[in-house]
Amino acid sequence: MIHAYTGDGKGKTTAAVGLLIRAYGAGRRVGVVFFDKGSETYRHNELVVLDRLGIEYHITGLERMKPDGSFRFGTLEEDRVEAARGIELATAIIAEKRLDLLVLDEALTTMTYGLLEKKAIEELIDTCPKELELVLTGRCTDKDLLEKADLVTKMVKHKHYFDRGVKARSGIEF
Ligand code: ATP
Ligand code: MG
Repeated sequence: MIHAYTGDGKGKTTAAVGLLIRAYGAGRRVGVVFFDKGSETYRHNELVVLDRLGIEYHITGLERMKPDGSFRFGTLEEDRVEAARGIELATAIIAEKRLDLLVLDEALTTMTYGLLEKKAIEELIDTCPKELELVLTGRCTDKDLLEKADLVTKMVKHKHYFDRGVKARSGIEF
């Protein structure tokens, strides 16, 4: 099945990581490509746990969280290069058929930012073997693309403390 966790509310990456752990617990071969965690500033705490559990992960994408906990918007050329690298990794993993569940965290956001062609994601979905559970996360308003998924969950922001200036916190936001 193809899952898409999207929307402007908190919980997309944490839901995907939760599913990863559940599937791993069931003995499935699982892995994840992160499209936005190439940080030298932050220790993304979920990675610590994936390391401990021995879960395969790949990191691509430049960090968007700044050292002061605010966010970088806009696009650098390197963002595009990193997005393309993420898709190449995902394509290779899918072709090798060595996983039962693959998470592509923030792949949808990457497309929404224009760092990836929509076609690149569509091709991944179209070539995804039946046996593979594919989980895509990130903000996305492209109805046609979301329509391709078997499951779409939208996290809706009703209220978020960031709107009153609370900065990203270790263990909660990263
Ligand atoms: P989580 O990783 O907590 O499940 P998410 O994957 O749904 O969240 P992202 O868009 O990846 O959400 O954002 C990562 C974290 O940063 C989230 O906890 C989110 O609430 C927070 N965040 C998102 N946008 C902003 C912003 N503009 N300013 C500050 N923090 C933000
Ligand atoms: Mg996220």
